[in-house]
Amino acid sequence: MRAMPWEELLAAAVEARDRAYAPYSGFRVGAAGLVEDGRVVVGCNVENASYGMTLCAECGLVSSLHATGGGLLVAVVACGPDGGYVAPCGRCRQVLYEAGGPELLVNEKPMSWWLPDAFGPGDLEGAG
Ligand code: ZN
Repeated sequence: MRAMPWEELLAAAVEARDRAYAPYSGFRVGAAGLVEDGRVVVGCNVENASYGMTLCAECGLVSSLHATGGGLLVAVVACGPDGGYVAPCGRCRQVLYEAGGPELLVNEKPMSWWLPDAFGPGDLEGAG
């Protein structure tokens, strides 16, 4: 297994967190992901006056992944207000699984830990 630059990813996540738009909760989140080609993509949470419309940092990260050329995520860090790791919500675990597959590491733990027995693109093979 290749060594992952966890400290660099956390620093990028903290920088993205500082740009988060979280005027309602004050709970700023940043995420940074290493792509298989070496790129680092980031995202931050974006709250909305209609609270349920809030966008998570990890979703912004995956949008940035595709907007900058796509590829497979190999390592992701998400950090919260205190600068430490914060767990991705359920929706983001599924979104990250699609963008990184079962080998993706999130906050230094494998996707199989975050989303055991995950449903993914392979489950749709042969459908229709
Ligand atoms: Zn989320």
